[in-house]
Amino acid sequence: EEDLALLDSDGEDFDDAPEQGALPVLAIVGRPNVGKSTLVNRILGRREAVTEDKPGVTRDRVSYPGEWAGRNFTLVDTGGWEVDVAGIDARVAEQAEVAISLSDAVVFVVDATVGITDTDERVMRLLRRAGKPVVLCANKVDGASGEADALVLWNLGLGEPYPVSSLHGRGVGDLLDAAMKVLPEVSEHGALRPDGPRRVALVGRPNVGKSSLLNKLAGSERVVVDEMAGTTRDPVDELIVLGDQPWWFVDTAGIRRRVHQTRGADFYASLRTRAAIEKAEVAVVLLDAGEQLTEQDTRVISQVVDAGRALVIAYNKWDLMDEDRRKFLEREFERDLVQVQWAPRINVSALTGWHTSRLVPALERALNSWDQRIPTGRLNAFLGELVAAHPHPLRGGKQSRILFATQASTRPPRFVLFATGFIEAGYRRFVERRLREEFGFEGSPIEISVRVRE
Ligand code: GDP
Ligand code: GDP
Repeated sequence: EEDLALLDSDGEDFDDAPEQGALPVLAIVGRPNVGKSTLVNRILGRREAVTEDKPGVTRDRVSYPGEWAGRNFTLVDTGGWEVDVAGIDARVAEQAEVAISLSDAVVFVVDATVGITDTDERVMRLLRRAGKPVVLCANKVDGASGEADALVLWNLGLGEPYPVSSLHGRGVGDLLDAAMKVLPEVSEHGALRPDGPRRVALVGRPNVGKSSLLNKLAGSERVVVDEMAGTTRDPVDELIVLGDQPWWFVDTAGIRRRVHQTRGADFYASLRTRAAIEKAEVAVVLLDAGEQLTEQDTRVISQVVDAGRALVIAYNKWDLMDEDRRKFLEREFERDLVQVQWAPRINVSALTGWHTSRLVPALERALNSWDQRIPTGRLNAFLGELVAAHPHPLRGGKQSRILFATQASTRPPRFVLFATGFIEAGYRRFVERRLREEFGFEGSPIEISVRVRE
């Protein structure tokens, strides 16, 4: 009631806004050249989003917001994932595996003008095993004369093939209608599932000690999945009891299985990292305390922050530490990781198990921050004082003012500031810093957006 007083007469109450991120995930899967990118472009209606990428270049995004028939979902696009390597068969399978593990339903694209290839069959077997709903897209059926080609795809045993021309848009509506029928309302396995054990991604560049730490953590207490009634599970994830509580460690299969040393292995390692982060609620980024911080390390950290996941930083191999090195690391942490000073940091040794018990308290602190909601009244009381003491700088004789603010969502906390004019990035960062000082948010990224009231 007191909160409402702070809103304008026409003020929308953002506290009622649906939480973001629980959207169901639809993945587009298939071998190269069948038309996945073309289909994705068609669905997104945003040609430039996908085609601007050069082939073989790692994209920053795996998923895009999609909409069909009034429903919102996350579209996982694998069209740009291929690398030009021999053994493309294995690559496609690996790519499909990642996409399938990320998704709630899959659109499997086959080139109807070519028919079923060995690679298609391999992907088909993966899909069968995963047991997720599949809609079969018989692509490149540009006209009625091609419909017969589509019928052959019944032989895949994945149900009705939908004849589609991604190029011209023919049949895409029917395909999407079918996809919406099998796509759950809310993601069944995604990061923001409201109940069940919390999901942790253990990430970091090769050789930092991910599998060693995983083995250490899982070593003593491993849970048989059947014990967890009612939990759906991905075969690539693992349930581990830590501190009397079960936790999902996502994509442990990817950690345990060393990536084969072929060209493109790095690419798939980074793809897996991204997929794991997207699936998790909190990520533990492992760093090697014995080595310099690399660009690869900071990139993984940025991925976690950009994905809006909670973050814990763990310096591993602390058993190798001496006093000089320790001092150096303190400086490095302050200098190179200044943007994530808010992340809890622990020093551990996966080898000896030293301080690994500090992981759970750090995870809990980060997740509490990630879940934290500041009541609108408290938020505005705080902001009112802040703005009075430190007004936004004058620009061109004009003074932008923040009228009020609300927390639009949690996981991660997102704030909306309503202002009379443009709010500079520097001032937004200042507000973020003060928000952190006041309310904590240790271990969680926070987002601040501004809406200008005319
Ligand atoms: P991806 O590798 O699976 O992402 O495939 P692309 O979307 O890059 O498409 C491969 C090629 O097939 C391109 O030359 C597309 O223009 C073409 N293509 C895609 N969809 C269709 C279609 O429905 N009909 C026809 N005739 N060509 C298509
Ligand atoms: P991953 O590639 O990140 O999974 O790294 P691994 O767990 O395979 O570890 C890479 C190497 O670092 C192996 O030789 C491990 O024995 C070693 N290692 C992992 N953790 C520690 C640690 O805490 N201390 C020391 N001294 N070595 C470690």
